[in-house]
Amino acid sequence: MNQTAIARSWVEHANGHSDFPLQNLPLGIFSRPDEARRCGVAIGDAILDLESVLAAGLFDGEAKAAVEATRGGALNAYFALGSKARVALRERLLALLGEHSEHQDVLQAALYQASECQLHLPAKVGDYTDFYVGINHANNVGKLFRPDNPLLPNYKYVPIAYHGRASTLRPSGTDVRRPKGQTLPAGQSEPTFGPCARLDYELELGIWIGQGNAMGDSIAIGDAAEHVAGYCLLNDWSARDIQAWEYQPLGPFLSKSFITSLSPWVVTAEALAPFRCAQPARPEGDPQPLSYLQDKRDQANGAFDIELEVLLITERMREQGLPAHRLTLSNSLSMYWTVAQMVAHHSVNGCQLQPGDLFGSGTLSGVQPGSYGSLLEITEGGKQPIELASGEVRKFLEDGDEIILRARCHREGVASIGFGECRGTIIAAN
Ligand code: CA
Repeated sequence: MNQTAIARSWVEHANGHSDFPLQNLPLGIFSRPDEARRCGVAIGDAILDLESVLAAGLFDGEAKAAVEATRGGALNAYFALGSKARVALRERLLALLGEHSEHQDVLQAALYQASECQLHLPAKVGDYTDFYVGINHANNVGKLFRPDNPLLPNYKYVPIAYHGRASTLRPSGTDVRRPKGQTLPAGQSEPTFGPCARLDYELELGIWIGQGNAMGDSIAIGDAAEHVAGYCLLNDWSARDIQAWEYQPLGPFLSKSFITSLSPWVVTAEALAPFRCAQPARPEGDPQPLSYLQDKRDQANGAFDIELEVLLITERMREQGLPAHRLTLSNSLSMYWTVAQMVAHHSVNGCQLQPGDLFGSGTLSGVQPGSYGSLLEITEGGKQPIELASGEVRKFLEDGDEIILRARCHREGVASIGFGECRGTIIAAN
């Protein structure tokens, strides 16, 4: 048994914490009222201020260099350092926050209640790319449009993606303004303009890029893991009526770019290591990936077993004190391509990836009802409304509705970890 897997912290509320026990230690950018943004690590219900710990002289060597790179309110320079610095910092934090730490008094003064802090995006995102690797989602959505032939012929060869909009990425808790746009009403031949009537969520994993590549170079699949800084939750809010009218021939545009929400904590590959598993075997008859997308180690250990959940609370449910309604319970094993395959493919043409770039996985739906990662799939495009305990029904999201994404990893004999939440509430169109 790896001792880290069961180690305890002197921060009592971290032990058994659903998201942030000692084993997780995700970094993020936070601020306290009227103070500058700085880097912290989530531990239980608290945030450890790394700049204060640095000032107290408790870091040296590579861990010190890593913390120095987190200064300035964004983690891009830290992401650029790669895994060696990240692992050195993690080892030091495990010692400092572990139950045998010699520095509890100093560290106690650098701990803040997370509920009293504001969390921000962890990095300045240069480019954001949204993939489409959730094969069940691709199948479910494809069936709505092409019942006999849901997947296009390239799907099993190419990790499909489009370039998203980095300027409208926002941290959890940011309100979602209902977008306006062109839509084509059913049975009409000309579009109308107005607020989106089919507003939806998409449950996705976010992937933070660490070390980049020079333009013209490609990242080999065997090296791809070194280029990933960490993971988060991502809600790719989608205006289905705008999307249906605009998406051909060049893909999503204004139906996606009004806002994309992210959970603020960067969960590392080291924290997720116990929850790695083999990439699920391709169904009989599927083609093998081209050689630049094949790597034995990646196939053996490149997937993740992460439980993913989506909850809905309407304004009326909140007023009536009703619990959140679970819309989705799904798992990251529904990814047809691994993260390493996404990185290798994105850079194979010489496209430059940079520290702080962000990938979305694509919607991660399961096979069964109850595991679909969007309302488009759950309500079959609005044909099968959901009934809520408040007596309300939903085909798509209404103003006042709040969507909450969560993620959690479990394994026998290992402390569970989570990602924290990714929340957003719909507000009326301008
Ligand atoms: Ca998406």
